Amino acid sequence: MKFSTQAIHAGQKPDPSTGAIMTPIHLSSTFVQSSPGVHQGYEYSRTANPTRKAYETCLASLEACRFGHAMASGCAATTTVMSMFEQGDHIIAGDDMYGGTLRLFEKIIKKWGLVFTYVDMTLGAEELEKHITPKTKLVWLETPTNPMLKISPIKDIADWCKSKKVLLSVDNTFMSPYFQRPIELGADIVVHSTTKFVGGHSDMVGGAILTDSPELNEALHFSVNSIGAIASPFDSFMGLRSLKTLSLRMEAHQKNALSISKFLEGHKNVDQVIYPGLESHPQHALAKKQMHGFGGVLSFKVKGGLDKARSFLENLKVFALAESLGGVESLIEHPGIMTHASVPEAQRAALGIDDSLIRISVGIEDIEDLTKDIEQALN
Ligand SMILES: *Cc1c(COP(=O)(O)O)cnc(C)c1O
Repeated sequence: MKFSTQAIHAGQKPDPSTGAIMTPIHLSSTFVQSSPGVHQGYEYSRTANPTRKAYETCLASLEACRFGHAMASGCAATTTVMSMFEQGDHIIAGDDMYGGTLRLFEKIIKKWGLVFTYVDMTLGAEELEKHITPKTKLVWLETPTNPMLKISPIKDIADWCKSKKVLLSVDNTFMSPYFQRPIELGADIVVHSTTKFVGGHSDMVGGAILTDSPELNEALHFSVNSIGAIASPFDSFMGLRSLKTLSLRMEAHQKNALSISKFLEGHKNVDQVIYPGLESHPQHALAKKQMHGFGGVLSFKVKGGLDKARSFLENLKVFALAESLGGVESLIEHPGIMTHASVPEAQRAALGIDDSLIRISVGIEDIEDLTKDIEQALN
């Protein structure tokens, strides 16, 4: 079935005991057995829970794969994936990742003896070839990146990984499965911060791990169950409910983001607009090829440096000045001072994250109100 149908039905059927059409929130921690070891598929909720299972099945179906794990947060998902590796294993990751992922790798996972190299993933397989060692086990990719929206060639990297027997994991948070499905392009694992577009309403924190490989899934399930950083039944219900409108929301985010990008491109107080849907984006052609849309996040540089950026942000009325992204409401932020403050200054400068850079997560409000708000604040 097609995406929007799956989003509403996959993993869900009316409750056989009551006919309830929506999956109940099963808060039970344990499940009865008719004889030792004989049960209906559920023993203990860390291992598996019916509400979580419905959500995981739906998520997996949307990512075009067979297995899904709903986690307590995006960072919990990343930690769980990393737990499959051993001391001395080498991981090649992007040099422009979500700051929390970089912090997790550098301050926590490194202590467990894993070795990281950070490279410019937009250069693809050729760049990876320069950094592979006999110990390389995983490539960790995020595309598009945050906040510079750099795009890396997923299929090119996946083909290279396969030829080297290295796993590829893609953080698909920014596009959601509606606009990008890395497993179809050859990735082994997809992770999400479902806090963002999957949740879509800024009212939950969650994560997910997806794969189509039965062997990888077995290892992942062992890690998920052993570590226990699972999504609660309530958050699983919230996620499942959110998926039903994912396609509608993503279309609306994209329509508004494209419109605002074009407006900003034509404004005299704006220096540069970065949105994969603009022809001026350096990787617009690659974006068109590997994505099914361009998403709801854009970045731009305001003329006049920090003072002007600050007064622009202070003067907005509809846009909320806040971290995070992917909600139905429009959020705006200053990466240098807010989301990316923990990235070392030299690295920020190298990536182009300067004082004039502003990131918008475009919501699904009326475009006229959004445009007017930006116009009055820019003026
Ligand atoms: C937010 C985010 C994460 C971390 O997810 P949490 O749910 O906040 O733990 C990981 N990757 C990307 C791209 C993100 O935007």
